[in-house]
Amino acid sequence: KKVADRYLKREVLGEGTYGVVYKAIDTKTGQTVAIKKIRLGKYKEGVNFTALREIKLLKEIKDPNIIELIDAFPHKGNLHLVFEFMESDLEAIVRDRNIVLSPADIKSFMQMTLKGLAYCHKKWVLHRDMKPNNLLIGADGQLKLADFGLARIFGSPDRKFTHQVFARWYRAPELLFGTKQYGSAVDVWAAACIFAELLLRRPFLQGSSDIDQLGKIFAAFGTPKPSQWPDMIYLPDYVEYQYVPSPSLRSLFPMASDDALDLLSKMFTYDPKARISVQQALEHRYFSSVPAPTKPVLLPRPP
Ligand code: ADP
Repeated sequence: KKVADRYLKREVLGEGTYGVVYKAIDTKTGQTVAIKKIRLGKYKEGVNFTALREIKLLKEIKDPNIIELIDAFPHKGNLHLVFEFMESDLEAIVRDRNIVLSPADIKSFMQMTLKGLAYCHKKWVLHRDMKPNNLLIGADGQLKLADFGLARIFGSPDRKFTHQVFARWYRAPELLFGTKQYGSAVDVWAAACIFAELLLRRPFLQGSSDIDQLGKIFAAFGTPKPSQWPDMIYLPDYVEYQYVPSPSLRSLFPMASDDALDLLSKMFTYDPKARISVQQALEHRYFSSVPAPTKPVLLPRPP
């Protein structure tokens, strides 16, 4: 049975933040695709209209490191988003104990992540929900960012859903303090958490609540001083935390190179205004020094 007279439905791939994702064949091109069925729920038709207009903009985003939105259409009260099919994701790679990640592999994954982000930030689109399972890996080894812009269109995913708690681990401190004027720096913080996770092979800052998340951040980097982040005390949910000094980054990442550590610390800058931009991060010497990033086709992948 065809959907929208074009897609042959195959098996369900999983359940995501916004709804079920299933595999399908695009009869127009023969390409395998992933279709994300988004429940419009309580919003229904009103949001449907705005969402479709916004999604038109996402269709304009074409970059080797961003998953392509092939098609979008409403069907039986759900919005269907058609994406290119991807074999795996970075979470599966980080978790697979049989996979060894060399410093060159980590550099390659980070470079592809930041290139995808740079393209979007250039177009003034934020991701807002960066996490390893949103970084999909294609058959050719290319890493592509998924779910771009969806957080803004459909609202922040409901944190009460259990499968969403992981997203907290990638949240920037300004978001945890309730800022309403966040910018592209939130994606840089999340990318830093992913960088740390590639180095440690486990999520770096695993908070069990938003308060605990800030506690974990402060325990790693020291409580921010007002001189480090002057705007902090004016944030809506700001509360004073007991001062804790920071251990050295070196002690937290004993295996990282000096270049990797320098870039990591610039991405983990507290003040979003002082945090390194994605473009600056790509120009950091970490990416030009040896070892060169592994070519995508040569990257390790799950069996
Ligand atoms: P979440 O919202 O929790 O990030 P998603 O909605 O992105 O989850 O995805 C749900 C499931 O569908 C996941 O198991 C994911 O691996 C799979 N999936 C999502 N997009 C694709 C794709 N383009 N190709 C293959 N599988 C995908």
